[in-house]
Amino acid sequence: YVKRAGKNDYELFVNSMNVVAKRRLELESFLRHAIDNKELSVNYQPQIDIPTGRIIGAEALLRWNSAELGMVSPVEFIPIAEETGLISPIGEWVLREACRQVKEWRDDGLPEIQIAVNISVQQFAKQSLDKLVSKVLLETGLPVHCLELEITENMLMDDVEGAVETLHKLKDLGINLAIDDFGTGYSSLSYLKRFPIDKLKIDRSFITYVTTEPSDAAVTQAIISMAHNLGLTVIAEGVEEASQLEFLRQHHCEEMQGYYFSRPLIASDMEALLRSHKGSPKI
Ligand code: C2E
Ligand code: MG
Ligand code: MG
Ligand code: MG
Repeated sequence: YVKRAGKNDYELFVNSMNVVAKRRLELESFLRHAIDNKELSVNYQPQIDIPTGRIIGAEALLRWNSAELGMVSPVEFIPIAEETGLISPIGEWVLREACRQVKEWRDDGLPEIQIAVNISVQQFAKQSLDKLVSKVLLETGLPVHCLELEITENMLMDDVEGAVETLHKLKDLGINLAIDDFGTGYSSLSYLKRFPIDKLKIDRSFITYVTTEPSDAAVTQAIISMAHNLGLTVIAEGVEEASQLEFLRQHHCEEMQGYYFSRPLIASDMEALLRSHKGSPKI
């Protein structure tokens, strides 16, 4: 009896392994054609200046609507793109598309915003990120001060010397640099001052309970004051409630992003928001 149960467990295990492996293979093979099939798009989530309530930027968030699989979350397909090398063409596509779009809005006379683009581990580790970025800026005509790159803490800590060098090359071009998901990684605070960065983005996991969990409030306050002491700007991600915004305002966090103001929007909705936003603060 025991043996039979064991065998069933094993079969269950093998079956679920097959499900995972099958999904992975499907994702990989369909992702290969996602760019050519025009299945990728960029969503834009507004970033708000807390003191004035104005939209000052947007984060570019990749979307994949697969003909075979339907909508697939970037949380699922970005890691596969990283492992298979597909991140290179995909990352370049997002960067170019986001820069092109923001340049178009700028030319149309809409309020100027800065666009934040997520950079993956593989993209950051490549020697030539600065060359790619300057090429895309040149091709799209977007002024360099309108572009920000988001890098995560762990990407910096894997190879500190290499990261300092890469960041300096980007900084020399005039690009804004932000550390994404700040507080969740393992960066040693003493290293922070060595990186030529402009902004810390406090991770959503701290903001969610910032008004109810004293420890999350403490971490958030500590990040804000440390950032300010280092001369960095702070943005909070995942702001969903007025009380969270109030907390951030009281603690002099400069910027916020989250469902409270807006979910990520398709380009035409972002454009309409920018059009209606002229001169009218929304929070
Ligand atoms: P991230 O860079 O930390 O992006 C923030 C994520 O939080 C986005 O999820 C966004 O939709 C979500 N979010 C924003 N505000 C709220 C809120 O108020 N509440 C909640 N619950 N969620 C909120 P999304 O679009 O699913 O992206 C997930 C992750 O996938 C991103 O995390 C980023 O790491 C990665 N990603 C997305 N687009 C790209 C890309 O173009 N390149 C790379 N390398 N990674 C990307
Ligand atoms: Mg991000
Ligand atoms: Mg983030
Ligand atoms: Mg996050």
